[in-house]
Amino acid sequence: MVKKLIIPKRIVCADKQNRILKSTALEITDNKVSSFISLDKIQKEKYDEVYETQDLTLIPGFIQTHVHLSQTLFRGLADDLPLLEWLRLKIFPFENAHDENSLRITAQLSINELLMGGTTTFLDMGTLRYGEVVFGEIINSGIRGFSGKCLIDENDLFPDFKSNTKNELNNVQSLAKSFHNSGEGRVKYSFSPRFVLSCTEALLKETKEIMKDYSRSVYHTHSSESIDEVNEVRKRFHKENIEYFNSIGVLDDHTILAHCVHTSDNERKMLKDRNTRIAHCPSANMKLGSGIAPIPQYLKEGISVTLGADGAPCNNNLSIFNEMRLASLIQKPIHGTEIMDAKTLFRMATIEGAKALHIQNEVGSIEMGKKADLLLIDLDSYSNSYSDSDETVYSDIVFSSTTENVKSVMVDGKWLVKDRQSLVYDQREIFSKGKEELQNLFSRL
Ligand SMILES: [Zn+2]
Repeated sequence: MVKKLIIPKRIVCADKQNRILKSTALEITDNKVSSFISLDKIQKEKYDEVYETQDLTLIPGFIQTHVHLSQTLFRGLADDLPLLEWLRLKIFPFENAHDENSLRITAQLSINELLMGGTTTFLDMGTLRYGEVVFGEIINSGIRGFSGKCLIDENDLFPDFKSNTKNELNNVQSLAKSFHNSGEGRVKYSFSPRFVLSCTEALLKETKEIMKDYSRSVYHTHSSESIDEVNEVRKRFHKENIEYFNSIGVLDDHTILAHCVHTSDNERKMLKDRNTRIAHCPSANMKLGSGIAPIPQYLKEGISVTLGADGAPCNNNLSIFNEMRLASLIQKPIHGTEIMDAKTLFRMATIEGAKALHIQNEVGSIEMGKKADLLLIDLDSYSNSYSDSDETVYSDIVFSSTTENVKSVMVDGKWLVKDRQSLVYDQREIFSKGKEELQNLFSRL
């Protein structure tokens, strides 16, 4: 049994009451939060480790519900294109050229960036091949993550980048069997059809059937991101995108749809009735020129909305801070300044993310008995407010912090970043390996 004690400036719990605790230390036993202790009652000698800081605020680890680890290596190589061209000309050819080495390094670079920026749990879309490599990296790194093979059995945009339905279903079975609930339970399987235009109906439906054998797995796909995509779906199926998903029975509370920028009243009703979750990616929606998702409307209707950075080539960062800030700012000119306040955004990036993935009993807030996924953040940096009041805490996190404010990050009771140093990766080594593998990948294009 390992006992750790963290004595921070304050603890932002993200629990039901949104408690902010002062003069309180957090006790962690092995991988769980085991006690909140008043400062006058602590006995430091009882602990294997005491982390004491007057300056740093303790908050839950961030949760991103839509990322693409396979694409991080392609950052900066696909700017200024709309979605379908971006896929056709750049992203599908690049992903198609991955081998195990390039996929391993892009997974390492992604996990490194997510951890350094305070993201402790993510939902990854995966890529067509070598899914086991990504799982290996999630397990080795210590981060918490959902991933899965990205399913593609038809592809008019880039025909080389697909498999056949039978292969896809076989592969998904064996990967799910090997990796669901692996890494001491940190790793879960996500069934990941890419999007309607790259999957047959059989693949979409049968994957959902297979998923029933893997409790607490999720079904993760893209929907209604750009107008061109929506028009193409309408042309093929004579239905809106979400109406089509509903008609084939893949919408429920374990389905997470990235984007949902363009939806009709009828589709919104389906999302609500099925309790389907939306992963909102505002940077990607802006950068690909896709549009502004009607998030305030979703929230008002009680539809689950959480946040993700999407892929590095359409963002170009994996920072949850960018997403929280932008998700708020883009709605204010439309709906007024009161909409999407900082506390709402903070909860979307923490406890609401956990609920969307059905892991809210384990992570998403700092509470007794939950897993110790948390981070220490400096809210007294040169870019933060000068007030020490609890009133400004959420504003300081959402509107004026960046990943640079994150100092130390713990997942499952283990420090993975400490005092801005990664304890997982040698930064210089992975950056230079990344450059090398990118050149190798170009030679395979
Ligand atoms: Zn995506």
